[in-house]
Formats: sequence, structure tokens, C-alpha cells
Amino acid sequence: MRPLIAHQSRGALRHNLSRFPKPSWAVVKADGYGMGALEVARSLDQAPGFAVASVGEAMVLREGGISAPILALEGPFDLEDCRDAAAYQLDLVIHDLAQLDWLEALDRRQWSGLWIKLDTGMHRLGMSETAARETARRIEALSVGRKVWMSHYGRADEVELALPALASPPPGWSISLANSAASLGHALPANIGRAGIALYGASPISGDLGLNVVQRLTSQVVAVRHVPAGEGVGYGARWVAPRDSVIATIPGGYADGYPRAMPDGAPVSVAGVICPLAGRVSMDRMTVDVTLAGDAVKRGAPVELWGREVPIETLASLANTIPYELFCNVAPRVARIWS
Ligand code: PLP
Repeated sequence: MRPLIAHQSRGALRHNLSRFPKPSWAVVKADGYGMGALEVARSLDQAPGFAVASVGEAMVLREGGISAPILALEGPFDLEDCRDAAAYQLDLVIHDLAQLDWLEALDRRQWSGLWIKLDTGMHRLGMSETAARETARRIEALSVGRKVWMSHYGRADEVELALPALASPPPGWSISLANSAASLGHALPANIGRAGIALYGASPISGDLGLNVVQRLTSQVVAVRHVPAGEGVGYGARWVAPRDSVIATIPGGYADGYPRAMPDGAPVSVAGVICPLAGRVSMDRMTVDVTLAGDAVKRGAPVELWGREVPIETLASLANTIPYELFCNVAPRVARIWS
């Protein structure tokens, strides 16, 4: 078996959700940030609900036996989505008047939940406050279980700027304002949180949030070779040995989700020692300068690409990206082991 494995912890997921103010729904879109939406949802029996991107993603969870409320964050794309949402008892985000027209066309349905999305400055999805209030008025004519007034922030300061519009929903409507950064970084009024990246163990803000690592991406050394000073390593010989060096070759490349953009010097833990990446990451493997790790580095030596010894936040910033993208890009061919 190829030794590249994503070890994923159910206990860490549960712990991380408990760090959020209650109630917080668990965001499991994009197949649970790449970790497996069904496994994540099945691990979180304390979650009051789950959020995914689309009605299709929500249906997969329902069919997998998840009975808790499930919200489709992008809302319905067409009338068919609305029919499925009614049949599967899904909550829907409404951010556009066309979506409201579809709901009204099916108005004898019982809607599990409708969440009106306001645009509070991100200018991606969402309505003006006036349109949102008009939508809420029209929704009063429908049969709806849960009614939520929501927004999503793209910048920390939007939270303060937008609070007045959000703090006064129509009577009978709850509020949902916050992703991980806003939930954990701000004291917000009564609010249904939406726990995403921090649930998966990566911190969206500075400071210790007391999160546990959910995913460790591990591998093993499969070859060790001595490279004389002045020799290049890997494609394009990007790294040139500054002295006689020991190079370890490790399964884990860009086809597995380890970014090709990772620069020389990025930390890789080999046999418990942090060693620098040496040479361009290729499709299936990478090369690491293990000269300073000494004799512990032999074929079969354990490697951590990210997790406890190598924080994913550090690696993501070295590759000019964010932990979200690293998690989501872990390829299907990487074995997942849950504990
Ligand atoms: N709510 C909405 C509407 C989102 O789109 C997302 C993710 O992008 C989240 C919540 C969770 O955000 P985060 O992963 O930053 O906690």
C-alpha cells in the first residue's frame, strides 16, 4: 500500500465544535472540506445542523442517514432544486428574488427552513436590507419551520459595520451571522454560528483557539541517497546541494494535493526532525534535505507533511494559499483512516 495517508480524528472534530458558541451548525460542504462529509457529519452527533453548498450535496447526506437539519448555502438553482429540498426536508438560503418565485410556485409545500441572506459588504451573494424585509414579508405566507436572517462576512471589520442591519430581524426570525473567524473572534449577539475551517482544526485568526488537529497527512521515506555538493535535485534542478547532502524521497506530490508551489525550505517532519523541502514537488513525490537528521532517516522512516509537527497554517502561507485549499485538495487516491 502507498504510504501516503490522511489520519483523521473524530474526537478532534467533536472537541473543535465544542469550542464554538452554541448553537453552531457544522459546515460540511465540498465533501467536508475534503475530509468526507458523511464521516464528518456522522462524527458530530451533537451538531444542531449541517451546512453544505448545494441541494445535491445535502441529498447525499440525507441518503447517508443524516437526520439533523441540513442547509444548502448557495440556495436553490432552479425549481427542481426546490422540489428536492421539500422532499428531502432541507433548509434553503434565499439570496435572490427568483428563488422566492420558485418557492411561491410550490407554495403548498412545508419548508423545513428558509434563511434570507443579506449582503453586508462582501458583494457576492445576498440582498439589500429592503429586499430582504420584502422577502421576509412574502415568506410569511408560506409554511416554514425555521426562519433565519443571515449574512456572511469577507472581512473582520464588516462584522461591526453590519451589525445594526442584522441585529433587528423581522419578528420570529433567528439570526445567523458568523463563520469560524467571526464566531471565535467576536462577541456576537444571539446567533446561529456556522463552524467551518476551525472545526477542521485550522485557525482562521491569530491567537490560540484551543483547537485540536483533525487531519495529519503522513508518509514514509522510500529512498535515501547521497548527493554531492553542487548537484541539482528534482525537476529543473531548482535545489542545488550547498554541501554533500542526504536526500530523502517521499511519496506525496501535487497529484495528492501537496502544492507544487511549495518553496525550498518548507518544513517536512522526517523521523521527528523538521527538515527542509529540497527541489520542486513533482506529481507523486517530493525530495527533502535530511542531512541534519542523521542516521535516523532510513527507508521506512515516518514523515508528517502536515498535522501536529508541521502546522497547516504555516505550510499554506508558504505556498501562498490558505488551509481551506490544502484540505480540499487532498486527492481521492490518498487513503483516509478515521480514528
Ligand atoms: N457560512 C458560509 C455562507 C460559508 O460560505 C462558509 C464557508 O465558506 C462558512 C459559513 C464557513 O466558513 P469558515 O470555514 O471560514 O468557518
